Amino acid sequence: MLPAEPPVCHRRTLRTAAELVEAGLARPSPELDRVAAASVVAVPPALAALIDPADPADPIARQFVPSAAELRTAPEERGDPIGDDAFSPFKGLVHRYPDRVLLKPVLVCPVYCRFCFRREAVGDAGAALSPADLDRAFAYVAARPAIREIVVTGGDPFMLSPARLADLLARASAADHVDVLRFHTRVPVADPGRVTPGLAAALKAPPGGPAVWVSVHVNHPRELGADAAAALARLADAGLPLVSQSVLLKGVNDDAATLEALFRALIRHRVRPYYLHHPDLVRGTAHFRPSIAEGQALMRALRGRLSGIAQPTYVLDIPGGAGKVPVGPDWLGQGGVTDPGGAVHPYPVAFSGPTC
Ligand SMILES: *Cc1c(COP(=O)(O)O)cnc(C)c1O
Ligand code: SF4
Repeated sequence: MLPAEPPVCHRRTLRTAAELVEAGLARPSPELDRVAAASVVAVPPALAALIDPADPADPIARQFVPSAAELRTAPEERGDPIGDDAFSPFKGLVHRYPDRVLLKPVLVCPVYCRFCFRREAVGDAGAALSPADLDRAFAYVAARPAIREIVVTGGDPFMLSPARLADLLARASAADHVDVLRFHTRVPVADPGRVTPGLAAALKAPPGGPAVWVSVHVNHPRELGADAAAALARLADAGLPLVSQSVLLKGVNDDAATLEALFRALIRHRVRPYYLHHPDLVRGTAHFRPSIAEGQALMRALRGRLSGIAQPTYVLDIPGGAGKVPVGPDWLGQGGVTDPGGAVHPYPVAFSGPTC
């Protein structure tokens, strides 16, 4: 007789309301059906396995399992919250800052985050760039020597095969003025088995090619289990500098202890925390957004108790496309500087040196 299957062993990515219910990750409801029908859903096995179905406030489930709260749109929310479209000269490329462009070779992801900043754009498997689209994007870069960096995002570019990634690298290497090719990905935590030695090897730049950086999207320390750690080690051992991006999310990581554990885990895995993003004004995501004042208080709390190499910059992407800016906290005030304990020390903030 065959041994019985353990009940919580997800082998396939869960993609429908019925599959989530069957896996014990959601209760059936008309709202669940409506949300799942109106947006793209995917919970891959590596993340489903981290969810405690008995915990109604599970921080992993909260990020990936659809909820009825998504049916509510706040008046300030938008379909294109950070203004990608306004700065896109053609399909797959966004050029907002003079020295760098975004390239989106695919719009698919290994998981669909319910708070995703490109929620209304991601999930379309037919939106992958064709070789002709890539020719146009790299011709645009080649014609503009001011472009020093290509940020490869999407979607998730690590959904591409190693051969396709190597092709991007070869194309970027052809433009001498491109110093850096930076990949933004959630694959190391969402589908760590995809980060094969072959994928890591494909990211090794040819001599004279750009430096390749990898930015990993991680929001909760539990996302960094043994398999994710091994995937990050394969990238770090291949010589790739690793940074992280996290989103500050209500009910997921909006407390100092969770953020401290997250950033400590990242530096333990050779990933330098880079950005903590304030959530964008995406339609149906108000339940994820703390206030900026709450975010500042958390950053203040972390400053005194966490290593400097583990401190990300807290940033807001200004709605409409004006760019990302740090949003504090501000340590300098009128006539003084605040220490991590909250005490203000006099310092001549505006004084620039001897005037005589
Ligand atoms: C976020 C973003 C970048 C990268 O910004 P960094 O601050 O360098 O990480 C580049 N272009 C666009 C359009 C962006 O939205
Ligand atoms: S992995 Fe990134 S692009 Fe994909 S759904 Fe999550 S936040 Fe959006």
